[in-house]
Amino acid sequence: MLDIQSLRAQFPVLRRRVNGHPLVYLDNGATTQRPARVVNKMAEYYLRHNANVHRGVHHLSALCTDANERARERVRAFINASSAEEIIFTAGTTAGINLVANSFGEAFVRPGDEILVTEMEHHSNIVPWQMLCRRAGATLKVLPVTDDGRLDLSLLPVLLTPRTRLVALTRLSNVLGTINPVRLVADAAHAVGAVVLVDAAQAVQHLPVDVAGLDCDFLAFSAHKMYGPTGVGVLYGKKSLLDKMPPWQGGGEMVRDVRFEETTYNDLPFKFEAGTPDFIGIIGVGEAIDFIDSVGMEEITARERSLTLLARDRLSTVPGLRFHGEAPESSSVISFTVEGAHPFDIGTLLDRQGIAVRTGHMCAAPLTRRFGVESMVRVSLAMYNTEEEIDLLLRALLRALLMLRG
Ligand code: PLP
Repeated sequence: MLDIQSLRAQFPVLRRRVNGHPLVYLDNGATTQRPARVVNKMAEYYLRHNANVHRGVHHLSALCTDANERARERVRAFINASSAEEIIFTAGTTAGINLVANSFGEAFVRPGDEILVTEMEHHSNIVPWQMLCRRAGATLKVLPVTDDGRLDLSLLPVLLTPRTRLVALTRLSNVLGTINPVRLVADAAHAVGAVVLVDAAQAVQHLPVDVAGLDCDFLAFSAHKMYGPTGVGVLYGKKSLLDKMPPWQGGGEMVRDVRFEETTYNDLPFKFEAGTPDFIGIIGVGEAIDFIDSVGMEEITARERSLTLLARDRLSTVPGLRFHGEAPESSSVISFTVEGAHPFDIGTLLDRQGIAVRTGHMCAAPLTRRFGVESMVRVSLAMYNTEEEIDLLLRALLRALLMLRG
């Protein structure tokens, strides 16, 4: 069992008050809070060890390079990749997906080809593919979502064709909380010769993620949603594919030799890491993974599932409340609207009571429209949320609705 109070004590921000009330932070899908150990580790490197990586022969450069590469190995083990060469540090999920859309797109996507995304994707797993399709003369296809918020897998055999080059889907929806059957989709995609990119931005902090078990070809996530620093992320790619892909951005670090006539490129993963990486952020990612391991992913998954069920149960008692997304396989994210109350007004009145939730289209406008609304309220949970906070949310929501409906 998690000792929730000592867990919360590691997050100084959770002790603060907002608008005269103790903070109830239920916007973890946007970004989680960071434990002090992650910030302290980064501060230690900034204040005591800082030197650029992969360049200097001097002591501090070697020290930071070692720490950077240890973090890469931590990430490799965390997602069960077979080699550290398959772990590319990026600026976040968005940057990782754009890297694949550009580099894989250049190498493999031709006029008449198809890219398949799902209706429940975040904008960052839609727009890069739209841009690629426009550049390459390819077609974007969309796998629809059912009324209860699952992928409509009955349409998968129709939408996958010999022209499908890549299927991009989220592991856990940032709006519906649905956990998608990635392995099943990957097997079907591979059968027609397509590759699979998994958006794990909402998965790595909630569930064990095993790239070998999922058999995905690419997987992207952001550190700031998993208790790590902002501005850093990871792109996993199968070595056999990364080897065939051209670099996306040019600069220092990604080259072996530069002549005006011709440049040769560095080995993986450096071929895809042009310029000085955010090495202190990367060291922070390693620390965030150590923190997650210290709690235990199984404990985290179990706790968040029971908190999610409790929150759904409590919220279902609110008159006029409609959930968007009720898939049996789901966790940690709950979105809803309430009849007669605008989500923005609900969010504002909850904030006055110290409760932080997300309102709007959650960067998934096609999905919210699919459910007939432009905007929703989203409660997204993390391991440090408590049963008491769910009770506070319910009371504050009822108070807000009383004010809004009169
Ligand atoms: N994909 C999903 C499912 C997300 O929830 C988010 C962020 O909310 C992203 C991608 C984009 O992440 P980032 O802005 O860190 O690149």
